Amino acid sequence: MPDVFADLVGQGEAVETLRRAAAAAAAVLRAPAAGPVPDPADDELDALVEEADAGAAPGPAGDPGAGMTHAWIFTGPPGSGRSVAARAFAAALQCAYGTGCGECPGCHTTMAGTHADVRLVVPEGLSIGVGEMRALVLRAASTPSGGRWQVVIIEDADRLTEAAGNALLKAVEEPPPRTVFLLCAPSTHPDDISVTIRSRCRVVPLRQPPAEAVAEVLVRRDGIAPDVAAWAAAAAQGHVGRARRLARDPEARGRREAVLAVPRRLTGVGAAFDAASALIEAAEAEAEASVAEADAAERAALETALGAGGTGRGAAGALRGAAGQLKDLEKRQKSRATRAQRDALDRALVDLAGFYRDALTKALGAPVAPVHTDTAAVAEAGARKWDAEGALRRLEAVLACRAAIEANVKPRIAVEAMMLALWKG
Ligand SMILES: [Zn+2]
Repeated sequence: MPDVFADLVGQGEAVETLRRAAAAAAAVLRAPAAGPVPDPADDELDALVEEADAGAAPGPAGDPGAGMTHAWIFTGPPGSGRSVAARAFAAALQCAYGTGCGECPGCHTTMAGTHADVRLVVPEGLSIGVGEMRALVLRAASTPSGGRWQVVIIEDADRLTEAAGNALLKAVEEPPPRTVFLLCAPSTHPDDISVTIRSRCRVVPLRQPPAEAVAEVLVRRDGIAPDVAAWAAAAAQGHVGRARRLARDPEARGRREAVLAVPRRLTGVGAAFDAASALIEAAEAEAEASVAEADAAERAALETALGAGGTGRGAAGALRGAAGQLKDLEKRQKSRATRAQRDALDRALVDLAGFYRDALTKALGAPVAPVHTDTAAVAEAGARKWDAEGALRRLEAVLACRAAIEANVKPRIAVEAMMLALWKG
């Protein structure tokens, strides 16, 4: 049975850090004589935190730098496994052996998402609000029911609103003795995570895993044929989840092929606008499909809870309150749909950037494998036609489009500008 860190692809250094920290955390729990008073453990933990904060370099087990702290940030590019790492570490903290053995109930329930002392926050909309964060911080302060740690995992901590960030900061500054916060963010840049929160956290940087490592896990864990795994891993550019979808989901493959057909189709202004529309509409359709089921289920659940269709006395009053709740739900769902659209569009742009990167490396004669092996010939033709400079300008146009959308430019406008730039070169 592989341990909880087995799926952290190509992240040897980070795994080493987390293993040492889990061992240190287990030592903290073992330290006091078995008694109900946890204070000695807290003191020891605080001492470890202080030593770690003092900037001790990671060292062998027993080194203070290897110790445990109350707040962590997992950083890395999308798909590098930030949330996988956070969850694995949470399992190791809850593991009966303190190792993340993968077999004990603590490991099992954490990995399955059912451990009572592990809370996972996944923002569904564009940001995590202050109300959600306050409730979370409050619950996280309670004594762990399993006697080990209260663990809070915040995926996409870069989507915290400022007020939510402040609520979190207070908890991180004065952490309850048995509470551990695990934040996931693209980087420690102040745009992603506030400087004050960053200063309270230990950072675990994850790197973009090499394609071979991604392919290996697809074969071992998901039973995907080696040749398909190798192709998908390269095409997904180090994004493990995306690689698995490409290997398994024919629709995902079809969407990718449509995106990669764009460069050949840009034959004029009209074609550029058509391509922009097609890209936007494909992202909308993909997003709609991904949220439709959850939307319907939530609405049905809320209507049931509100007793929709009731005719008794008081039903009218209940309905007036219900209208407000339905409105709230619709607002949340709209926000989630917008996020899903942006994510779908961003995936398409990453694929497109991969194509122009292939053209650029070809034009430069760089000895690197293409991202998209199936469009390598088209990229090569592009390289001959555009030269390195033209390929670079086009790659930059795609990256500029991503940046513009991230900065809240209306997607259609950003994509149209990009398509025109790709056509004109
Ligand atoms: Zn275990």
